[in-house]
Amino acid sequence: MPDLNIPPMLWLVGFQMGLYAVAWGLCGALLGEDRAAVVHWGAFLLMTGGVMLLAGGRGEPRHWIFYNGANVLSLLAFAAMRRGTERFMRLPGSDREQAAMLLLVAGAIAVVGPDEREASWRVVLAYGGQAYIVMRTMWTTRRALQAEFGRRTLVAIVGPGVLIALMLLALALRQALDFGHPVEMQRNAATNYALMYYYLGGTALFNFGFMVMLTQRLVVQLRHVSQRDALTGLFNRRAVDIEVQRQWERFQRHHRPFAVLLVDIDHFKRINDTRGHAAGDEVLAQVAALLESHARSTDAVGRIGGEEFLVLLPDVDAAEAQRSAERLRVLVEERELRARGEPLTVTVSVGIALARPGDPHAEAMIARADEALYRAKAEGRNRVVAAPDPVPDTRSVR
Ligand code: GH3
Ligand code: MG
Ligand code: MG
Repeated sequence: MPDLNIPPMLWLVGFQMGLYAVAWGLCGALLGEDRAAVVHWGAFLLMTGGVMLLAGGRGEPRHWIFYNGANVLSLLAFAAMRRGTERFMRLPGSDREQAAMLLLVAGAIAVVGPDEREASWRVVLAYGGQAYIVMRTMWTTRRALQAEFGRRTLVAIVGPGVLIALMLLALALRQALDFGHPVEMQRNAATNYALMYYYLGGTALFNFGFMVMLTQRLVVQLRHVSQRDALTGLFNRRAVDIEVQRQWERFQRHHRPFAVLLVDIDHFKRINDTRGHAAGDEVLAQVAALLESHARSTDAVGRIGGEEFLVLLPDVDAAEAQRSAERLRVLVEERELRARGEPLTVTVSVGIALARPGDPHAEAMIARADEALYRAKAEGRNRVVAAPDPVPDTRSVR
């Protein structure tokens, strides 16, 4: 039995990895749907800590478990990291590829033997295999990362990932190019110091990447909840106000015209009264979907009241806004909806207003659209009314 006189430095680094693992384990216990992924990350760090302790047990005579076993465990650790990351991104996973890779690389490490003359093989295979796993993790998750978090977060995750992969590749290459001098982690080797910096730096980067992914997912979810209307999935009042204000500022600064349509379902109360509130909800959701499907990608559609919607049309003139509103009105009128399984149709009234240079603020424009909507109702509903034409801006003419 070899003496397990593990040097303090390896204890410390192993302890650090263990702490990370405990932290992710606790984090996993708090999480709902992402628990499995986070537990994989914890397992990755726990196994990495195990590698430290195994390496700390290295000595003479050489035992397989402290040499080859440590290398194999390091590859299993990285495989867990990849599996967790793919799970986190809700990807199908690469279990077959990983199994094949482990069979090949870890299998080769397992059979070469613990002796010093085979050490270079093990070092090249272990670091090469780890670099491969990190690269493949980024490759298979890159699209999902960008789709969910956007380009900037992608860079914040892939940047450190590339750095880690390059570090591991450098370790493998250095050994491959100087095959005669194996650089193994040994109980009291001087080179351990350099390796420990690699390990500490590398795991810090991994933890950073995991944190970025978790917090970004939370941010995206919170943003969605804070901007969307729960019943229809459209923008809510607050999000619409922000969008209108943004357009308003563009209009002030760059004279980019825009229009708002206020769309109100006619006699909606009757639907609630005759078919029930749940039927009313179904109608709201269907009308919302119609408005959304009709919108261009640059338009914003929001629900700003019970059965009242706002459609923001950037870069349109009065004629285009009128055409757009009319198309929308006909779309709703002609569509057969369903409420509680029963067919029904509804109509909408639309008030249009265009941004005017003379308006003191965006609310003045919304107020004009509201007046126009009121007139549409008064004139018999199921129609489009535009607020009077913009008055020429006398200040700019002068
Ligand atoms: P008008 O043609 O003048 O617009 O008549 P209306 O009945 O559509 O308008 P009114 O403002 O009198 O009634 C709106 C109704 O919308 C009253 C309210 O109970 C209902 N409502 C508001 N929010 C919701 C909702 O989220 N779900 C359902 N089912 N009904 C809602
Ligand atoms: Mg109404
Ligand atoms: Mg209304």
